[in-house]
Amino acid sequence: METVQTDVLIAGGGPAGMVLGLLLAKRGIDVLVLEQQATFDREYRGEVLQPRFVQMMQQLNLLTHLEQYPHMRLEAAESYHKDRRLGHVEFRDVSPEIPYAIWMPQPILLQALRDKAQTLPSFRLWFHASAKRLVQENDSTVGLVVEKDGAEIEVRAKVTVGADGRFSTVRRLAQMELEYEHYENDLIWFTSRRPHGEHPTLQIKLSDRHAYIVLPKYPDAVQGGMFLKKGEWKNLQSSGLEPIRAEFLAASEAFAEFAGRVQSFREFFLLQARIMYAREWAQNGLLLIGDAAHCASPAGAVGVSLSVATAILAADVISRALADGDVSAARLREVQEMRSPEIRRVHALQMRAEKGLMTRNKWVYQIRPYVIQFAMKSGLFKVFARRLLLNGAPLPISKEFTFET
Ligand SMILES: Cc1cc2nc3c(=O)[nH]c(=O)nc-3n(C[C@H](O)[C@H](O)[C@H](O)COP(=O)(O)OP(=O)(O)OC[C@H]3O[C@@H](n4cnc5c(N)ncnc54)[C@H](O)[C@@H]3O)c2cc1C
Repeated sequence: METVQTDVLIAGGGPAGMVLGLLLAKRGIDVLVLEQQATFDREYRGEVLQPRFVQMMQQLNLLTHLEQYPHMRLEAAESYHKDRRLGHVEFRDVSPEIPYAIWMPQPILLQALRDKAQTLPSFRLWFHASAKRLVQENDSTVGLVVEKDGAEIEVRAKVTVGADGRFSTVRRLAQMELEYEHYENDLIWFTSRRPHGEHPTLQIKLSDRHAYIVLPKYPDAVQGGMFLKKGEWKNLQSSGLEPIRAEFLAASEAFAEFAGRVQSFREFFLLQARIMYAREWAQNGLLLIGDAAHCASPAGAVGVSLSVATAILAADVISRALADGDVSAARLREVQEMRSPEIRRVHALQMRAEKGLMTRNKWVYQIRPYVIQFAMKSGLFKVFARRLLLNGAPLPISKEFTFET
């Protein structure tokens, strides 16, 4: 079998893996990112990058680079009961230091990161390359067996990183168990044309039966996500399309175009709203980051921000560990120690938010629009949104990772 050597081997070319690869290469560290897909094009993923993400890109001096790619600025969040507006909040009131979120599909974001990384000689990315087995010696991981274009290659590395998403192969191979997993709800995504003249905002919508998250989609569409109890989608499908069509028409004008044209359940995309936290993120020579270590629910659309924040701190820990020649579990565990309080806080907030959105209690259901209206008008919502979307103080990012303009 062919053998290849690198300093850091990253399984997964999503936001976490690409940011980690980029930052390590900036420090001159030899890095190889493996992406199992042939391109960055993928099924629909998050397209909203929250103020926290914008702030981190500003700190790294990467924001101007990213904003050269197709994107849209989102400056407000709203809540509706059917088409009656319950509240409107400007991002500048929630996080004056970063007064907007960005709409940018993941393939564009990943391409932008790749373009930057390719200017650095120690960065390599292999598409069509999957992590298959761990290579282990003396109680340490020293690389991966990779399947690339149908052939197996042994890639040996000082540090191996699992950035391969919520169903991480690396996590499974290393037998790193979850400390907790919360999976009560599904989100059913669909795309509809935005009503003429409506400004693109982030929205929570309530119908008489369900709660929806509504995200703008460039240039003139909305991405709607209907929250369902786990298993409810199967029951809805057994009644055929007509009840859903009727529900969407009653729920909002924003869903009318989709409701009018939908012909098949294949036009929906089911996302399991899983919250997961791996008990240990590090072993000797091995580290999990991003969704592989901590997966958030779709509530608040914060998954990319959380994953990238972990990747940035991981770049710092790994580069110092390599310099000291100590890649032990104790050393790499610093990443988890730094990130754990924020991740646990966000997970707890999301579980509470989901509980409120998913209630089937008739009484709570009826007063819910008034509660949301009160929260948005009184400022309570702003406090909640700030905690979820900006997460307190800026991430402590070492100057060594800041790019030149
Ligand atoms: C439908 C949907 C909507 C979302 N909406 C938002 C949103 O609006 N805003 C937001 O912030 N977040 C959103 N999220 C969450 C966000 O997409 C994730 O939190 C984020 O992508 C996690 O980044 P990651 O790099 O850790 O993992 P991923 O993005 O999952 O990347 C992992 C990568 O690893 C690759 N991979 C997997 N296995 C292997 C292997 N064995 N070998 C090599 N490569 C492998 C995968 O192909 C993938 O490219 C959404 C998620 C989904 C599913």
